[in-house]
Amino acid sequence: MKSTARREGDVYILNGSKNWISYANVADHALVFAKTDPSAKHKGISAFVLERGMPGFTTADTEHKLGIWAGSTGELFFENVEVPAENMIGEEGQGFEIAMYGLDQGRFTVAAGGVGVIRACLERSVEYARERETFGEPIGKYQFVQDMISEMVLGYETSKLLVMQAAWMKDQGLRNTRETSLAKWHATESAFRAAHLAIQVHGAYGYSAEYGIERYFRNARAPIIYEGTTQIHKMMQAEHALGFRNLNGRGGDVSPLCFVGAGVVAGAHSRLGAAVLKGPTAVYFPGCSYAIPSDTRNAVEEPKSASLNTIPSGSVAPGCTSAPLTGFLIVSETTSYESPAFTRVLTPSR
Ligand SMILES: Cc1cc2nc3c(=O)[nH]c(=O)nc-3n(C[C@H](O)[C@H](O)[C@H](O)COP(=O)(O)OP(=O)(O)OC[C@H]3O[C@@H](n4cnc5c(N)ncnc54)[C@H](O)[C@@H]3O)c2cc1C
Repeated sequence: MKSTARREGDVYILNGSKNWISYANVADHALVFAKTDPSAKHKGISAFVLERGMPGFTTADTEHKLGIWAGSTGELFFENVEVPAENMIGEEGQGFEIAMYGLDQGRFTVAAGGVGVIRACLERSVEYARERETFGEPIGKYQFVQDMISEMVLGYETSKLLVMQAAWMKDQGLRNTRETSLAKWHATESAFRAAHLAIQVHGAYGYSAEYGIERYFRNARAPIIYEGTTQIHKMMQAEHALGFRNLNGRGGDVSPLCFVGAGVVAGAHSRLGAAVLKGPTAVYFPGCSYAIPSDTRNAVEEPKSASLNTIPSGSVAPGCTSAPLTGFLIVSETTSYESPAFTRVLTPSR
């Protein structure tokens, strides 16, 4: 990020530009992130609301996009724009946090949009495959066509469930960065795949503007890029699983996966920041059976701790137990975190 905001009395002076902004040329207000402290990395970013017409604030359209023709895209330019300090959102240096929160909402709408595209492709393809006949049979009777329809069904159902999971967490007021990222990645990739398959089901008509299927294809491409490219979401998910990154809030949501094996546990501990885990720690997969080292079974050293002896279990390896669980719990010397789906089957040990 190169845009800067320098405080001078009651105003901030903004300089810089940002390309690829949805509705840049038509919106009355723009939420702009700029560096108020360039040396402080992400902690030096602040958020401002700019108003159309502010001297030095100009916009331009981006021409000839592949898709999303119904919505404009453009560029914002800031040349010594004087932004009143009261137009700052949150506190100075809080911009990154605000942007990340915004992404949790924006990515969610993109994921939901992806589900809509898959459903449209599926419905149109089913209708066409039942109608169109070759060699005296509706094309839907052919297994190769059924293969394409079934892939759309899978993409639709799995994307919808991931979106619903993120929605449920939002409704509960829970941080949902991981779940929203997963929904966005999967739904947008599935939407593009569904649009590709829908063209194939429609044959040459899929390729023409007459049936409107090619529009789904063009419109499904950009969502794989904006609100975090697929590569960024893959990186987030992998780093979370590996224990290199916390998602869903400071001190919370360390992936249970990264507790597999002592060496990895140590790595995960060191990345927990304020919530340093020491001693016995209990971590469970959502909805999975999992091997729990037996020395963690009587969970924790703290007075408020709980024991795990009411969880149904069966031995899977020497020193380990396996338990079917519906959520996960992390208990440490200084903190405990319970996943939303965790079913409380623990009994107090003291
Ligand atoms: C139609 C449209 C509307 C948009 N609207 C907005 C908007 O309203 N507001 C806004 O702020 N932005 C908007 N964007 C911009 C969008 O968010 C960016 O294009 C997107 O984040 C990717 O950034 P980039 O284009 O600079 O690509 P780059 O960051 O240059 O990425 C290029 C390639 O390198 C990969 N890559 C980059 N870094 C890494 C990494 N660390 N690890 C692995 N792979 C990496 C990417 O995945 C990609 O494949 C919009 C874009 C489009 C197409």
